[in-house]
Amino acid sequence: MRRKLVAGNWKMFGSLARNQALVTDVLAGLPQGNCEVAVCPPYVYLAQVAQLTAGSRVQLGAQDLSPKAEGAYTGDVAGPMLKELGATLVLVGHSERRHGHGENDSQVAEKFVAAQAHGLLPVLCLGETLAEREAGETELVLARQLDAVTQRAGVAALANAVLAYEPVWAIGTGKTASPEQAEAAHAFLRSRIAKQDAMIADSLRILYGGSVKAGNAEAIFAKPNVDGGLIGGASLVVQEFLSIIAAAR
Ligand code: 13P
Repeated sequence: MRRKLVAGNWKMFGSLARNQALVTDVLAGLPQGNCEVAVCPPYVYLAQVAQLTAGSRVQLGAQDLSPKAEGAYTGDVAGPMLKELGATLVLVGHSERRHGHGENDSQVAEKFVAAQAHGLLPVLCLGETLAEREAGETELVLARQLDAVTQRAGVAALANAVLAYEPVWAIGTGKTASPEQAEAAHAFLRSRIAKQDAMIADSLRILYGGSVKAGNAEAIFAKPNVDGGLIGGASLVVQEFLSIIAAAR
């Protein structure tokens, strides 16, 4: 049985005051339940949010990391630094990094490997653009993005990782993938992994991300291959985030 995970990706939002209010209210309203919860604030707030979440069941994640452990890489942040501040997981390959910062599959794979090397759980984000979906290339793109990582890290590395299917056309657009579209993509990813290792495929959590809200979370999370969500905008709204967590039973 896979334990569901609901992770909030705050993207480039927040301030000391807003983070404090948000985390305090989320902790106060956390529903009982078995699902794992995480928040991924901007780097500069990791230490603050680590303090706010200390001793709670809310885990801390970062939104990206450098593939390098240290060095002359101005502006980059390394895995050991994230770990030191209390992060346990890290997003890699978010589409806003792939498309906004030109990260390619091979760089994403390097970051995935670096995350694991430094004791962080990588949450590998993948997903097609609208043009790719309309051209019938969804599975081709997912396979390419997944294979780049399994070829580099080995399929066994997925025993200690999470996938997040985030169709680019559904991110921040209010256009959610239907539960059936999400399920189809998740089932495709899982079956591709199962061809190499059925046990790892069966235990791997695959999150859905893209305009998840209180109103659609339950239907999406009810699909058998959907193991929780990666939540952007709605993770910044206390009641929305709490309802999404409650939907992940
Ligand atoms: P939204 O939930 O705002 O669409 O963002 C999804 C996302 O990119 C999470 O990583």
